[in-house]
Amino acid sequence: MTTIRSLKEYIAQTLSSYYPTEEAESIARRLLESAYGVSYPMLVITPPKDTQIHEGQKMIEGWMERLLNHEPLQYILGFTEFDGLRIKVAPGVLIPRPETEYLCELIRERFAPTAKKKLHIQAIDLCTGSGCIALSLSASFPNAEIEAVDQSDLALMTARNNIEAHPTLAPRLNLIKADLLSDTFIPTSEHYDLIVSNPPYVLEKERTEIHPHVLDHEPSMALFVSDKTPLLFYEAILKKFAHILSPEGLIAFEINQSLGHDTANLCSSHGLIAEIVQDQYGRDRFVFAKHKTNE
Ligand code: GLN
Repeated sequence: MTTIRSLKEYIAQTLSSYYPTEEAESIARRLLESAYGVSYPMLVITPPKDTQIHEGQKMIEGWMERLLNHEPLQYILGFTEFDGLRIKVAPGVLIPRPETEYLCELIRERFAPTAKKKLHIQAIDLCTGSGCIALSLSASFPNAEIEAVDQSDLALMTARNNIEAHPTLAPRLNLIKADLLSDTFIPTSEHYDLIVSNPPYVLEKERTEIHPHVLDHEPSMALFVSDKTPLLFYEAILKKFAHILSPEGLIAFEINQSLGHDTANLCSSHGLIAEIVQDQYGRDRFVFAKHKTNE
Protein backbone atom coordinates (compact mmCIF):
# COMPACT_ATOMS: atom_id res chain seq x y z
CA MET A 1 0.00 0.00 0.00
CA THR A 2 1.24 3.48 -0.82
CA THR A 3 1.48 5.78 2.17
CA ILE A 4 2.79 9.32 2.63
CA ARG A 5 5.92 7.87 4.23
CA SER A 6 6.54 5.39 1.42
CA LEU A 7 6.04 8.16 -1.15
CA LYS A 8 8.51 10.36 0.68
CA GLU A 9 11.04 7.54 0.74
CA TYR A 10 10.54 6.88 -2.96
CA ILE A 11 11.16 10.56 -3.81
CA ALA A 12 14.17 10.98 -1.51
CA GLN A 13 15.68 7.70 -2.69
CA THR A 14 15.22 8.50 -6.38
CA LEU A 15 16.76 11.94 -5.94
CA SER A 16 19.60 10.77 -3.71
CA SER A 17 22.08 10.37 -6.55
CA TYR A 18 21.32 13.88 -7.83
CA TYR A 19 21.04 15.87 -4.60
CA PRO A 20 22.64 15.78 -1.14
CA THR A 21 20.48 13.77 1.33
CA GLU A 22 19.10 16.80 3.15
CA GLU A 23 18.10 18.57 -0.04
CA ALA A 24 16.49 15.40 -1.41
CA GLU A 25 14.47 15.11 1.83
CA SER A 26 13.44 18.73 1.65
CA ILE A 27 12.37 18.42 -2.00
CA ALA A 28 10.37 15.30 -1.07
CA ARG A 29 8.48 17.25 1.59
CA ARG A 30 7.84 20.16 -0.76
CA LEU A 31 6.52 17.90 -3.53
CA LEU A 32 4.20 16.13 -1.09
CA GLU A 33 2.93 19.42 0.31
CA SER A 34 2.25 20.75 -3.19
CA ALA A 35 0.57 17.54 -4.35
CA TYR A 36 -1.81 17.39 -1.38
CA GLY A 37 -2.02 21.08 -0.48
CA VAL A 38 -1.27 20.39 3.20
CA SER A 39 1.83 20.86 5.33
CA TYR A 40 4.02 17.76 5.70
CA PRO A 41 3.41 17.25 9.46
CA MET A 42 -0.35 17.48 8.82
CA LEU A 43 -0.04 14.92 6.02
CA VAL A 44 1.62 12.47 8.39
CA ILE A 45 -0.91 13.02 11.17
CA THR A 46 -4.02 12.95 8.95
CA PRO A 47 -3.12 11.16 5.71
CA PRO A 48 -5.38 11.59 2.67
CA LYS A 49 -7.68 8.75 1.54
CA ASP A 50 -6.20 5.99 -0.67
CA THR A 51 -7.77 7.41 -3.85
CA GLN A 52 -6.32 10.87 -3.11
CA ILE A 53 -2.94 9.38 -2.31
CA HIS A 54 -3.04 7.68 -5.68
CA GLU A 55 -3.90 10.90 -7.57
CA GLY A 56 -1.13 12.78 -5.77
CA GLN A 57 1.29 9.99 -6.57
CA LYS A 58 0.62 10.35 -10.30
CA MET A 59 1.25 14.08 -10.07
CA ILE A 60 4.47 13.51 -8.13
CA GLU A 61 5.69 10.97 -10.67
CA GLY A 62 5.28 13.58 -13.42
CA TRP A 63 7.20 16.13 -11.38
CA MET A 64 9.96 13.62 -10.65
CA GLU A 65 10.46 13.02 -14.35
CA ARG A 66 10.95 16.78 -14.84
CA LEU A 67 13.30 17.03 -11.85
CA LEU A 68 15.44 14.19 -13.18
CA ASN A 69 15.58 16.12 -16.44
CA HIS A 70 17.26 18.93 -14.39
CA GLU A 71 14.24 21.21 -14.53
CA PRO A 72 14.40 23.58 -11.55
CA LEU A 73 12.04 22.73 -8.69
CA GLN A 74 10.76 26.32 -8.65
CA TYR A 75 9.45 26.02 -12.23
CA ILE A 76 7.83 22.69 -11.44
CA LEU A 77 6.05 24.00 -8.37
CA GLY A 78 5.44 27.38 -10.04
CA PHE A 79 6.64 29.51 -7.18
CA THR A 80 9.49 30.35 -4.85
CA GLU A 81 9.90 32.24 -1.60
CA PHE A 82 11.66 35.59 -1.84
CA ASP A 83 12.25 37.89 1.10
CA GLY A 84 9.15 36.48 2.81
CA LEU A 85 6.99 36.85 -0.30
CA ARG A 86 5.50 34.09 -2.42
CA ILE A 87 6.74 34.77 -5.95
CA LYS A 88 5.37 32.94 -8.98
CA VAL A 89 7.94 31.80 -11.51
CA ALA A 90 7.61 30.13 -14.89
CA PRO A 91 9.98 29.14 -17.69
CA GLY A 92 11.08 32.33 -19.45
CA VAL A 93 11.62 34.17 -16.17
CA LEU A 94 14.77 34.04 -14.05
CA ILE A 95 14.32 32.28 -10.71
CA PRO A 96 15.12 34.76 -7.92
CA ARG A 97 18.46 33.97 -6.28
CA PRO A 98 19.48 34.15 -2.60
CA GLU A 99 22.04 36.83 -3.55
CA THR A 100 19.25 39.05 -4.85
CA GLU A 101 17.31 38.47 -1.64
CA TYR A 102 20.43 39.63 0.20
CA LEU A 103 20.60 42.70 -2.06
CA CYS A 104 17.11 43.65 -0.91
CA GLU A 105 18.23 43.26 2.70
CA LEU A 106 21.24 45.54 2.09
CA ILE A 107 19.06 48.15 0.39
CA ARG A 108 16.68 48.07 3.36
CA GLU A 109 19.58 48.72 5.75
CA ARG A 110 21.18 51.46 3.68
CA PHE A 111 18.13 53.25 2.41
CA ALA A 112 15.83 53.11 5.46
CA PRO A 113 17.21 56.34 7.06
CA THR A 114 16.54 58.30 3.83
CA ALA A 115 13.17 56.66 3.30
CA LYS A 116 12.08 57.59 6.82
CA LYS A 117 12.87 61.27 6.21
CA LYS A 118 10.83 61.51 3.04
CA LEU A 119 7.11 61.58 2.48
CA HIS A 120 7.37 59.99 -0.94
CA ILE A 121 10.01 57.75 -2.47
CA GLN A 122 10.27 57.32 -6.24
CA ALA A 123 11.97 54.04 -7.11
CA ILE A 124 12.68 52.02 -10.23
CA ASP A 125 13.66 48.38 -10.73
CA LEU A 126 15.21 47.83 -14.15
CA CYS A 127 15.14 44.29 -15.62
CA THR A 128 12.54 43.30 -13.07
CA GLY A 129 11.93 39.72 -14.32
CA SER A 130 9.45 38.12 -11.92
CA GLY A 131 9.12 41.46 -10.12
CA CYS A 132 10.71 40.06 -6.97
CA ILE A 133 12.91 43.11 -6.20
CA ALA A 134 10.13 45.61 -6.90
CA LEU A 135 7.73 43.70 -4.65
CA SER A 136 10.26 43.37 -1.87
CA LEU A 137 11.10 47.10 -2.01
CA SER A 138 7.45 48.02 -1.98
CA ALA A 139 6.92 45.84 1.12
CA SER A 140 9.98 47.42 2.81
CA PHE A 141 9.17 51.03 1.99
CA PRO A 142 5.45 51.77 2.34
CA ASN A 143 5.98 55.34 1.07
CA ALA A 144 7.62 54.17 -2.17
CA GLU A 145 6.11 54.19 -5.61
CA ILE A 146 8.01 51.73 -7.76
CA GLU A 147 8.33 51.38 -11.51
CA ALA A 148 9.21 47.85 -12.62
CA VAL A 149 10.68 47.68 -16.11
CA ASP A 150 11.30 44.73 -18.41
CA GLN A 151 11.27 44.09 -22.12
CA SER A 152 10.27 40.42 -22.04
CA ASP A 153 6.54 39.70 -22.40
CA LEU A 154 6.92 36.47 -20.45
CA ALA A 155 8.61 38.32 -17.59
CA LEU A 156 5.97 41.05 -17.65
CA MET A 157 3.19 38.48 -17.54
CA THR A 158 4.73 36.79 -14.50
CA ALA A 159 5.49 40.13 -12.83
CA ARG A 160 1.85 41.16 -13.40
CA ASN A 161 0.65 37.92 -11.80
CA ASN A 162 2.91 38.55 -8.84
CA ILE A 163 1.78 42.14 -8.42
CA GLU A 164 -1.88 41.10 -8.59
CA ALA A 165 -1.23 38.40 -5.99
CA HIS A 166 -0.12 41.15 -3.55
CA PRO A 167 -3.08 43.55 -3.57
CA THR A 168 -1.76 45.62 -0.67
CA LEU A 169 1.43 46.41 -2.62
CA ALA A 170 -0.08 46.56 -6.13
CA PRO A 171 -1.32 50.19 -6.04
CA ARG A 172 2.27 51.42 -5.62
CA LEU A 173 3.77 49.27 -8.39
CA ASN A 174 3.78 50.29 -12.05
CA LEU A 175 4.82 47.77 -14.64
CA ILE A 176 6.50 49.21 -17.75
CA LYS A 177 7.39 47.36 -20.94
CA ALA A 178 10.57 48.88 -22.29
CA ASP A 179 13.95 47.98 -23.71
CA LEU A 180 16.46 49.64 -21.43
CA LEU A 181 19.01 49.74 -24.25
CA SER A 182 16.75 51.54 -26.68
CA ASP A 183 16.95 55.31 -27.29
CA THR A 184 13.18 55.45 -27.07
CA PHE A 185 13.23 54.41 -23.41
CA ILE A 186 13.08 57.62 -21.41
CA PRO A 187 12.56 57.80 -17.62
CA THR A 188 9.02 58.84 -16.75
CA SER A 189 9.81 60.59 -13.45
CA GLU A 190 11.90 63.72 -13.01
CA HIS A 191 13.90 62.24 -10.13
CA TYR A 192 14.48 58.86 -8.58
CA ASP A 193 15.41 58.19 -4.97
CA LEU A 194 16.18 54.53 -5.49
CA ILE A 195 17.43 52.91 -8.69
CA VAL A 196 17.92 49.16 -8.56
CA SER A 197 18.91 46.61 -11.16
CA ASN A 198 19.92 42.99 -11.47
CA PRO A 199 20.56 42.94 -15.22
CA PRO A 200 22.10 40.12 -17.26
CA TYR A 201 25.75 39.94 -16.23
CA VAL A 202 27.09 36.43 -16.86
CA LEU A 203 29.74 36.61 -19.59
CA GLU A 204 29.45 34.36 -22.62
CA LYS A 205 32.90 32.95 -21.77
CA GLU A 206 31.52 31.90 -18.37
CA ARG A 207 28.83 29.72 -19.99
CA THR A 208 30.77 26.53 -19.25
CA GLU A 209 30.69 27.29 -15.51
CA ILE A 210 26.89 27.47 -15.40
CA HIS A 211 24.94 24.40 -14.19
CA PRO A 212 22.89 22.51 -16.80
CA HIS A 213 19.67 23.09 -14.83
CA VAL A 214 20.24 26.84 -15.26
CA LEU A 215 21.58 26.70 -18.81
CA ASP A 216 18.93 24.36 -20.20
CA HIS A 217 15.91 25.86 -18.48
CA GLU A 218 16.37 29.49 -17.51
CA PRO A 219 16.19 32.35 -20.03
CA SER A 220 19.58 33.19 -21.60
CA MET A 221 18.27 36.69 -22.18
CA ALA A 222 18.14 37.29 -18.43
CA LEU A 223 21.57 35.81 -17.78
CA PHE A 224 24.11 36.50 -20.50
CA VAL A 225 25.88 39.52 -21.82
CA SER A 226 28.48 39.67 -24.59
CA ASP A 227 32.14 39.38 -23.50
CA LYS A 228 32.79 42.51 -25.57
CA THR A 229 30.28 44.69 -23.71
CA PRO A 230 30.07 43.28 -20.16
CA LEU A 231 28.75 46.52 -18.64
CA LEU A 232 26.26 47.35 -21.38
CA PHE A 233 23.24 47.43 -19.05
CA TYR A 234 24.94 49.39 -16.27
CA GLU A 235 26.18 51.92 -18.83
CA ALA A 236 22.66 52.39 -20.20
CA ILE A 237 21.22 52.82 -16.70
CA LEU A 238 23.86 55.33 -15.62
CA LYS A 239 23.57 57.29 -18.86
CA LYS A 240 19.81 57.62 -18.49
CA PHE A 241 19.53 57.88 -14.71
CA ALA A 242 22.71 59.10 -12.95
CA HIS A 243 21.82 62.78 -13.47
CA ILE A 244 18.26 62.32 -12.18
CA LEU A 245 19.24 60.45 -9.01
CA SER A 246 17.89 62.62 -6.20
CA PRO A 247 20.47 64.23 -3.84
CA GLU A 248 20.12 61.55 -1.17
CA GLY A 249 19.31 58.83 -3.65
CA LEU A 250 20.86 55.38 -3.93
CA ILE A 251 21.75 53.20 -6.89
CA ALA A 252 22.01 49.48 -6.13
CA PHE A 253 23.36 47.04 -8.72
CA GLU A 254 23.80 43.29 -8.62
CA ILE A 255 26.97 42.56 -10.59
CA ASN A 256 29.28 39.91 -11.99
CA GLN A 257 31.73 38.98 -9.24
CA SER A 258 34.71 39.70 -11.50
CA LEU A 259 33.54 43.16 -12.50
CA GLY A 260 33.31 45.01 -9.19
CA HIS A 261 36.05 47.50 -9.95
CA ASP A 262 34.96 48.08 -13.53
CA THR A 263 31.37 48.74 -12.44
CA ALA A 264 32.49 51.02 -9.60
CA ASN A 265 34.75 52.95 -12.02
CA LEU A 266 31.86 53.32 -14.43
CA CYS A 267 29.77 54.85 -11.62
CA SER A 268 32.64 57.22 -10.77
CA SER A 269 32.87 58.31 -14.40
CA HIS A 270 29.25 59.45 -14.01
CA GLY A 271 30.21 61.62 -11.04
CA LEU A 272 29.04 59.18 -8.36
CA ILE A 273 30.77 57.59 -5.39
CA ALA A 274 30.67 53.81 -5.62
CA GLU A 275 31.20 51.03 -3.13
CA ILE A 276 31.69 47.34 -3.91
CA VAL A 277 29.90 45.03 -1.48
CA GLN A 278 30.15 41.25 -1.04
CA ASP A 279 27.26 38.81 -1.01
CA GLN A 280 26.63 36.19 1.69
CA TYR A 281 29.18 33.92 -0.01
CA GLY A 282 31.96 36.52 0.16
CA ARG A 283 31.90 37.39 -3.56
CA ASP A 284 31.92 40.93 -4.97
CA ARG A 285 28.26 40.94 -5.95
CA PHE A 286 26.90 44.45 -5.53
CA VAL A 287 27.81 48.03 -6.29
CA PHE A 288 26.10 50.84 -4.42
CA ALA A 289 26.45 54.36 -5.78
CA LYS A 290 25.38 57.78 -4.60
CA HIS A 291 26.15 61.46 -5.11
CA LYS A 292 29.44 62.83 -3.84
CA THR A 293 27.75 65.48 -1.69
CA ASN A 294 26.02 62.66 0.15
CA GLU A 295 29.08 60.90 1.66
N1 GLN B 1 23.20 35.16 -10.33
C1 GLN B 1 22.63 34.58 -11.50
C2 GLN B 1 23.31 33.24 -11.80
O1 GLN B 1 24.40 33.02 -11.37
C3 GLN B 1 22.77 35.51 -12.67
C4 GLN B 1 21.79 36.62 -12.58
C5 GLN B 1 22.02 37.64 -13.62
O2 GLN B 1 22.65 37.43 -14.64
N2 GLN B 1 21.54 38.78 -13.35
O3 GLN B 1 22.74 32.40 -12.45
